[in-house]
Amino acid sequence: MTIYQNLIAGEWTGAEAVENINPSDTKEVVGLYASGSAADTRNAIAAAKAAFPAWSRSGIWERHVILKKAGDEIMARKDELGALLAREEGKTLPEAIGETIRASQIFEFFAGEALRLAGEVVPSVRPNIGVEITREPLGVIGIITPWNFPIAIPAWKIAPALCYGNTIVFKPAELVPGCSWAIVDILNRAGLPKGVLNLVMGKGSIVGQTMLDSPDLAGITFTGSVGTGKRVAVSSIEHNRKIQLEMGGKNPMVVLDDADLSVAVEAAANSAFFSTGQRCTASSRLIVTEGIHDRFVAAMTEKLKTLNVDHALKTGTHIGPVVDERQLKTDTDYIEIGKKEGAKLAFGGELISRDTPGFYLQPTLFTEATNQMRISREEIFGPVASVIRVKDYEEALAVANDTPFGLSSGIATTSLKHATHFKRNAEAGMVMVNLPTAGVDFHVPFGGRKGSSYGSREQGKYAAEFFTTVKTAYTLA
Ligand code: ADP
Repeated sequence: MTIYQNLIAGEWTGAEAVENINPSDTKEVVGLYASGSAADTRNAIAAAKAAFPAWSRSGIWERHVILKKAGDEIMARKDELGALLAREEGKTLPEAIGETIRASQIFEFFAGEALRLAGEVVPSVRPNIGVEITREPLGVIGIITPWNFPIAIPAWKIAPALCYGNTIVFKPAELVPGCSWAIVDILNRAGLPKGVLNLVMGKGSIVGQTMLDSPDLAGITFTGSVGTGKRVAVSSIEHNRKIQLEMGGKNPMVVLDDADLSVAVEAAANSAFFSTGQRCTASSRLIVTEGIHDRFVAAMTEKLKTLNVDHALKTGTHIGPVVDERQLKTDTDYIEIGKKEGAKLAFGGELISRDTPGFYLQPTLFTEATNQMRISREEIFGPVASVIRVKDYEEALAVANDTPFGLSSGIATTSLKHATHFKRNAEAGMVMVNLPTAGVDFHVPFGGRKGSSYGSREQGKYAAEFFTTVKTAYTLA
């Protein structure tokens, strides 16, 4: 089998490889992907450092053309790349193609942004002096990504990093190197100079840790667990390095008595169970007022009966497998914890077997949960959600905000008053009214508050805040 290698200083390299396994069919090896060493990582950092002076001064047209070419190729290959994504991560083919299209749109967006770079010219408070405020590239950026969005998250970190003139050392998650390799190959062929984008696949403890320990990374943008995010933060203080951390959530979805029941059920089922619940914007706390509670639970249970859990590539599959054995164990452990804590298992909770050996778990719904239970406080990251019964809107809002996280927060209501109040008072970076908590646009800011995020927002124009540094220049006329 061919080894998909790392790209360091413009050369494909690496003989050590690991298997990329399909979670829908664990007999299937998607490919063999290089596993980089600490030395590979240091070489990649050195290559990115050497490439920075020229790339940081490259013309905006060159950056535009490369980003546009990448966006176009990803779009042209959406079905093939979507299938690769579905095979390595396990989300359904329509979800995977949708994510691939989004990656393409992100490259298109930043191709446009490259042509819109601008600064400000302002008068000085002193006579005969002019002041210019410009944004300059930050330097070498370390990009560390998780497994749950194998193409969109790399795209939304790589595209702005290149757009604003930075060079990159990119380390994707071990479980899903395939899509990352594909977009690096596409960008490399689109004409990026050697060393501008370096790919080092491999272990977090080796490749990732070597990146954290390097004094030569000016910034690290990270999406992953709270624990690793903290390591990124602590190591970065030592090196006076800029960081952007996206670390998950425990997102609430409030359903009020006045909600349109079918809108609420569609939004809640999507939030909790689509993409197998493996989205940091997924909702696992369904906070429901008493007047609609029983009808909502009955309708959700009916809805869950209609969702097929099966091979990600099979037509008609609504929910793919859990990503791997370790995550499956976490999910089933939390199901046991929920039962022991006294929540009532209203639906699911069982492993399922299918034609192919994979990590199949029924969508699982608890009722009679409280917001103090571990299943309501800790991120599970699987198809497991709980219904928490509350008296009224005020209690719903208080429970929604009573969490260490603050990424996304949703409400289903037909009341303008409650929707408006919730938008203002939800302690989250993103608020959704009559929509799932997950599923965001590519051209507007993404990020959270409290334990979910640290640093400036990702995506859209706001990405410039992280990927650039501001210069204020004074000139005597
Ligand atoms: P998850 O539990 O979702 O896998 P992790 O935080 O472990 O979350 O992984 C997110 C990313 O961080 C992955 O690319 C992983 O390899 C990387 N990573 C894990 N440990 C470290 C580390 N010590 N230093 C840097 N990166 C790491």
